[in-house]
Amino acid sequence: MRVELDLPDWVDERNIRIMAGIELVAKKLVQNDYWEVKETRCNRCGACCFFPPGKGIYPSVNGHCIHLKKIKGGWECGMPLYRSRVCGDDPHKHIEDGRCCITYKRVPCK
Ligand code: SF4
Ligand code: SF4
Repeated sequence: MRVELDLPDWVDERNIRIMAGIELVAKKLVQNDYWEVKETRCNRCGACCFFPPGKGIYPSVNGHCIHLKKIKGGWECGMPLYRSRVCGDDPHKHIEDGRCCITYKRVPCK
């Protein structure tokens, strides 16, 4: 899908995120002169939702977020409609480098 928009100048001073439902598709952070557009999607490995008590934004039991549920072929968040952006914006921040399969490609701003 291709989207072309004329946005007001004041958005230059803001982070901009494009969501498909609750899934982040693209973002342009204020300090960057490029967009990051999602190339590879989450494979539901669950790694970003495993953390010890006190380390996540939600309580942890048995080593993972209380909202994480095992499903066939992976893990799923049990509160997808209500989870905070910190859970979906950048999972790389929550886990060790290289364990999340999500990738973004850089697209220069015009
Ligand atoms: S670590 Fe990445 S691939 Fe695994 S569940 Fe989290 S977002 Fe998805
Ligand atoms: S709320 Fe959902 S996405 Fe966020 S840490 Fe818990 S299971 Fe993961």
